[in-house]
Amino acid sequence: MSEYVKELMAEVKAKNPAEPEFHQAVQEVTESISIVLDRHPEYRAAKVLERIIEPERVITFRVPWVDEQGEVHINRGYRIEMNSAIGPYKGGLRFHPSVNLGILKFLAFEQVFKNSLTSLPMGGGKGGSDFDPKGKSDLKIMRFCQAFMSELFRHIGPNTDIPAGDIGVGGREIGYLFGQYKKLRNEFTGVLTGKGLNWGGSLIRPEATGYGAVYFAAEMLQTKNQTLEGKTCLVSGSGNVAQYSVEKINSLGGKVVTLSDSNGYIYDEEGIDDEKLKFVMDLKNVRRGRIKEYVDKYKNAVYTDLDPQMEYNPLWNHKAECALPSATQNEINDKDAQNLVNNGVFVVSEGANMPTTIEGVNIFLDNKILYGPGKAANAGGVAVSGLEMSQNSMRLPWTREEVDNRLMMIMKNIHKTCIVNAERFGTPGNYVNGANIGGFLKVADAMIDQGVV
Ligand code: NDP
Repeated sequence: MSEYVKELMAEVKAKNPAEPEFHQAVQEVTESISIVLDRHPEYRAAKVLERIIEPERVITFRVPWVDEQGEVHINRGYRIEMNSAIGPYKGGLRFHPSVNLGILKFLAFEQVFKNSLTSLPMGGGKGGSDFDPKGKSDLKIMRFCQAFMSELFRHIGPNTDIPAGDIGVGGREIGYLFGQYKKLRNEFTGVLTGKGLNWGGSLIRPEATGYGAVYFAAEMLQTKNQTLEGKTCLVSGSGNVAQYSVEKINSLGGKVVTLSDSNGYIYDEEGIDDEKLKFVMDLKNVRRGRIKEYVDKYKNAVYTDLDPQMEYNPLWNHKAECALPSATQNEINDKDAQNLVNNGVFVVSEGANMPTTIEGVNIFLDNKILYGPGKAANAGGVAVSGLEMSQNSMRLPWTREEVDNRLMMIMKNIHKTCIVNAERFGTPGNYVNGANIGGFLKVADAMIDQGVV
């Protein structure tokens, strides 16, 4: 670690105590950007990186709501408006009991670089609540979403801040949030993305993050003249990103053998084909059940409970060529990364945000595998959110093919940006540096143009 990174990190840790995920995200980016700062002292003089690290605005609020039994609940709501240099704040909302300020700051920070990489005019933000939607009735979910939006509405708008979904926030929640925003503002606008098709949503938005992560994996493979055809893939999670990653891998001739949720994972050696995926989608999106139920239906598959005492996750310890972590942050530690490499995995495309610890990332980089970090590999979701905003502004919907082609082009361009910048700054093939630098340059130049604000 250079002196500059050490000093900056000491300051970040002192100013933002007890936010380990935020420290981790900042450290990874800072290590990449220090190469740029050495060549471009003007960025250092203008303290651009220091300014990017400090959110433009952090909003926290009380979310009181009453359930169907009349019991009062109080959750905490957040919106981090991180950076608006290249466009209005844009980023998802996460509803999960683990949500806290540090996690949302790391996500908002990552979002700034990711949104810049898409080449669309979007700044970075993130928000959410410690509300746990798991096992809750539709009525409870609706009441919570309405209470959450009753405060959030005054801070967002189609030209200010446009939230979307993330963990625990899918089509159902976006619907309730949009309904409440519309009622309070008396306006039908594109203030949220991930909307239903009948009321301003875009085709391919639900598929976009998973499809995009697979397109990114395919682009990385292309550099070795290979494709996904016949490749075995490990996928974690079983939510939005995981489901559409499986769908796209299947359509490109690959085979997915794992899926998981926060209780455990399934291993299906024969592969999760389209029919089995349909079962998973119904299980997770309609019946809202647990992944364990997969083995009741498909007897050859094996279910393993998650054991938090174990030093590694057995999901990452199977023979395969590709891995697409699509559940949550830090789900691959150094032991998992080593297991992946030992088992023959040479392509990792991150559907989730920061799913690999810094030690794990270093193992991928040392072994020179094709490693696509989340801010590049999972940018397809926010990219199609950007396309949803364009369609809302034009009041004209595009076809499925049109959106999918644009998504594919955006993923190809992000891949190229990573390759070009990694090479330009002396670390060819390093997608971490390529993504961080590519994302940084556009935001940094815009911040310099706009003065110290
Ligand atoms: P979903 O809520 O649809 O699914 C999340 C999945 O991950 C579920 O299977 C969930 O299991 C599992 N999971 C969540 N938390 C944990 C945990 N602590 N330990 C183990 N498993 C866990 O979310 P998404 O698919 O939308 O998001 C997945 C990842 O992708 C996140 O990192 C998100 O930030 C990232 N992402 C999402 C985008 C999008 O467009 N949706 C865009 C870019 C990135 P369970 O049901 O048991 O909670």
